[in-house]
Amino acid sequence: MTAFARALMREIAETGGIGVDDYMRRSNAAYYAQADPLGGAGDFVTAPEISQMFGELIGAWIADLWQRAGTPAPVQLVEYGPGRGTLMTDALRVARRLPGFAAAAQIVFVETSPALANLQRAAVPEATIVAAHDEVPAGVPSIAIANEFFDALAIEQQVLVDETWKERRIVANGDLLRFDPAGDTIRECSPARGEIAAAIAARIVDYGGAALIVDYGYANGETGDTLQAIRRHEYVDPLAHPGTADLTAHVDFVALEAAARRAGARISGPVSQAGFLTSLGIGARAEMLMQRADGTQREAVATAMRRLTAPDQMGALFKAMALTAPSWPLPAGFPA
Ligand code: SAH
Repeated sequence: MTAFARALMREIAETGGIGVDDYMRRSNAAYYAQADPLGGAGDFVTAPEISQMFGELIGAWIADLWQRAGTPAPVQLVEYGPGRGTLMTDALRVARRLPGFAAAAQIVFVETSPALANLQRAAVPEATIVAAHDEVPAGVPSIAIANEFFDALAIEQQVLVDETWKERRIVANGDLLRFDPAGDTIRECSPARGEIAAAIAARIVDYGGAALIVDYGYANGETGDTLQAIRRHEYVDPLAHPGTADLTAHVDFVALEAAARRAGARISGPVSQAGFLTSLGIGARAEMLMQRADGTQREAVATAMRRLTAPDQMGALFKAMALTAPSWPLPAGFPA
């Protein structure tokens, strides 16, 4: 057991329990601080790590929007939870082909993990890295990106006991953790996610801009227990490895949308990741890459395209939603 897990277990035993939100927040802070969890050798793989096409299409999405907004300069490109910096690297390669974009764009990363911030600094040396949304400089238009960021933010759970909703907490049972009270009828909410969605929306409403949120989750507000832990590409018990497994939960897009709308943003989507990437031209992009490739590389492009868009892979469970300032044009990739 790690020192973090031991300390957390002791605290849970001494205090009589903590909320699911507290558990998730603290476990993930320890988890993301320790090392690089992404990629084949890590615990899980994300869309930008599957293929350069993902970041490149988002780069084209950014460039198109910036151009139709009248090429504001400066413009801030803000990425929340940028992982290894791969998405931004691929996006910038494409967006910078547009004259004037490179000179106008200021890159800001919002990242809490020192380990990942180091990788981001190496990948995108010109980026300014801050630890929270509040530290993102205000006053200029911004285009924000968040891929698999919201799913890592803490959720609260409630469990139905004798027809009353009670907070679901985590208590210690000797050396094991368990949920309390017991019960199978569970609902979730996430003030932490709503708060950040509202803050991002308020920022773009005030200074102009847009935000693209891509994540896995619900587009129609279903509920139930969706807390999950992944370690070395396998699902594990969310209570078994605090600080050494990635804890996430389905993103409730209805809740994010409501928070952003209250702050004055316009909403596009959510649409499926397959719908979004197809509409941005992933088919043509894949074909172009295949034309230049040998047999093995062609196979890799086809496999990547399938993983990103097939309904039984990431295509349907993952969704894209955009927020825009009323003064900005609507973004590409969503039905009009
Ligand atoms: N977007 C990347 C990484 C996704 S993993 C990709 O698609 O590959 C989640 C990312 O969010 C990591 O970079 C993690 O360190 C970061 N993160 C998690 N909680 C955070 C928080 N509260 N504030 C800022 N970043 C956070």
